[in-house]
Amino acid sequence: MYILEFLSKIPYTELREPLEIVFKHNVWRKTQCINMIASENVMSPLAMLVYLNDMMHRYAEGKPFKRYYQGLKYVDELEVYTQKLFGQLLNTEYVELRPISGTIANATAFRAFAEIGSKAVVAPVQGGAHVSHTRYGTLGALGIEQIEMPFDIEEWNIDVDGARKVIEEIKPRIVTLGFSLYLFPNPTKEIADIAHSVGAKVIHDIAHVLGLVTGGVWKNPLDEGADIITSSTHKTFPGPQGGLIATKTKEDYKKIGKVVFPMFVSNHHLHRLAALAVTAVEMKIYGKEYASQIVRNAKKLAEALASEGFRVVAENKGYTQSHQVVVDVRDVGGGAYVAQRLEEANIIVNKNLLPWDKPEDIKNPSGIRIGVQEVTRWGMKEDDMIEIAKLMREVVIDGKDPSEVKKKVIEFRKNFLKIHYAIEIKDEDEAELLKIMLHPNQVF
Ligand SMILES: *Cc1c(COP(=O)(O)O)cnc(C)c1O
Repeated sequence: MYILEFLSKIPYTELREPLEIVFKHNVWRKTQCINMIASENVMSPLAMLVYLNDMMHRYAEGKPFKRYYQGLKYVDELEVYTQKLFGQLLNTEYVELRPISGTIANATAFRAFAEIGSKAVVAPVQGGAHVSHTRYGTLGALGIEQIEMPFDIEEWNIDVDGARKVIEEIKPRIVTLGFSLYLFPNPTKEIADIAHSVGAKVIHDIAHVLGLVTGGVWKNPLDEGADIITSSTHKTFPGPQGGLIATKTKEDYKKIGKVVFPMFVSNHHLHRLAALAVTAVEMKIYGKEYASQIVRNAKKLAEALASEGFRVVAENKGYTQSHQVVVDVRDVGGGAYVAQRLEEANIIVNKNLLPWDKPEDIKNPSGIRIGVQEVTRWGMKEDDMIEIAKLMREVVIDGKDPSEVKKKVIEFRKNFLKIHYAIEIKDEDEAELLKIMLHPNQVF
């Protein structure tokens, strides 16, 4: 292989090591694994190419056209252009792209609308809320008190009547919605009405489902009464890793802008803006088709796993309306054991706490969480979900040797080596573009 040949020519063994590690990682995760971590995705070839740009070397403190440093006229243009694209996707004029992650987006939104000693009513951790919404995460770091809404296990969602009692009693400054284990849309409208009646801001964290929202298969919380959306840009939305905030009003947007810099971001990793813009355009073109296929795939995988003998949760609700499938694996060894065995077969999922677990069960929780957004990107359809369910059954239920199943997984992955729902680039163009991006003296 060319890479190995290249590596053997490097005279410094210290240099060989990191390159070899990355090379092994790339081959393994990009071509030999069924990647089903629900928070991950892969960028399109064009997005990856433009990610390699000189903006990664620059600094841009402040807002576009109001920076503290010189040299940023094109960065300013690109940032505003990308904001506009996301505005079109999210039906608002007010998009903030500077938070460098979903967690930083949350920190910014929480700090903009609450202070030390304020109270926040948050979506239940038991139901899958992200750690940043808790006393152990960002909320706690900001000194904001966490009070949870109750969770309805039957509905696999927030208990609205219970939430009403909590919100009306506590009268919090902020109410947060959104989950990391996210099977069904939250009742945004109902909760927003209650929150607004006590003067609270509603911050809906759609890190996991941004791609489903921009693809139009999930409702946009801003149209359902949420005041603010926070998100990551790399889960179902297949962009570079980063964060995003969108608001309904100009007033809230301005508040957010004053907090993001100087409080949580100095420089905002400018090279990702180009990749973000490319992804946004690709999602304008292919987003609906992509998001619809994700949801069909998740549903099919859930059904197939159930018919192979797995205990898929939320059967009464049709298992899922998102990119996720959640399986209760208590009777086949528990989440840690099952996730580990699957990894040995190159099937990558994560162990996950389920609503009945205690925090101390974190080491071996009841569940595994599966996301189909990346395999959908690699071009898999419903029939392929049936294959995945069979492979998982062999490892988890039949107790076959994972290294034997791994061989089948590697064979299976050979059919899916092209990223879909993306602009195609011909090989010769790719080589030329890469040269331009990498060579210091070469320009367009
Ligand atoms: C992943 C996630 C985050 C954190 O995003 P990062 O970009 O990893 O910081 C925040 N909220 C929810 C609901 C998430 O699932």
